[in-house]
Amino acid sequence: MKVALVGIGKIAVDQHVPSIAASPDWELAATVSRTGTVQGVPAYTSLDTMLAENPDISVISLCLPPVPRYDYAAACLRAGRHVMLEKPPGATLAEVHALQVLAGDQTLFATWHSRMAKGVAAAKIALAGKTVESGHITWKESVRKWHPNQDWVFEPGGMGVLDPGINALSIMTEVLPAPVHLTAATVHTPENRQTPIQAELKFTCGITADFDWLQEGDQTWEMVFRTMDGAVVQLLDGGKTCLLDGVTQHGTGQDEYPALYARMAALVGDGASDVDLSPMVHVSDIMTLAQRVATSAFDW
Ligand code: NAP
Repeated sequence: MKVALVGIGKIAVDQHVPSIAASPDWELAATVSRTGTVQGVPAYTSLDTMLAENPDISVISLCLPPVPRYDYAAACLRAGRHVMLEKPPGATLAEVHALQVLAGDQTLFATWHSRMAKGVAAAKIALAGKTVESGHITWKESVRKWHPNQDWVFEPGGMGVLDPGINALSIMTEVLPAPVHLTAATVHTPENRQTPIQAELKFTCGITADFDWLQEGDQTWEMVFRTMDGAVVQLLDGGKTCLLDGVTQHGTGQDEYPALYARMAALVGDGASDVDLSPMVHVSDIMTLAQRVATSAFDW
């Protein structure tokens, strides 16, 4: 299938372009970006022009930040194309609901790349049928390393530390045997920015989370869940490794982004969609419930 990539920025270059190139299912047939290009691929600066000139490109993968993404997604769906959304799937829940209505029978895939990490399926199996009595998520990384000079992350809708934090929430909502909800939160927002740079969260079932975007040196993406019957399930390295009672579980599947493109090919083949907004519901709840603390100014 032919796919066009829209938004040739960090994640498109780091992950989408190599994953498409390595896939037997996909051909990268066009790009749309105000400034970016991919060598050897027809490049457009206008989405409308790309759609009009390429009726054979049936799938559009949107790698833009969440705030500008809705207009692009709606235009692609109105033009009859299938659409793949980077995470988080939108700036608001309601705009993604609107995209679901627009999609109708066309495929809409709200991707959660962290759910494809190789240990996640094993953690889900290990927790199935059990009752979780406590857990903790530690998601600490450097915004300067992963989002260099991307001011959009600190603008309204950019989500701040909840942009990487939603990756942890996407794993949590995938592996837990029953849904949890937020009961308390504190968010720390630099005095010169609009979105948080640190957050502490409490959920039901004794689950807590600590998100920090100022971590330099070693980066930490880990979670642990303890069950009523004494099992301890750990996910390390962003979900790549699962330990059950200290024993490494066998990880399966492809790497995260190749797995997303394989899933998109299957969804289009089946005429199906996959839009799970549960991680974003938690982010919305955090923004609703959190105590706000102002912290010192952040500059790159
Ligand atoms: P980015 O490099 O800042 O931007 C990606 C692209 O979006 C750029 O090509 C840029 O356009 C385009 N863009 C930005 N603002 C725009 C606007 N207002 N209108 C039209 N186009 C706009 O961001 P990124 O790091 O790739 O992140 C994009 C998405 O991927 C986010 O949702 C993020 O959460 C997700 N993601 C990022 C990472 C990561 O490590 N950075 C990892 C996983 C997922 P031009 O080229 O046209 O200037």
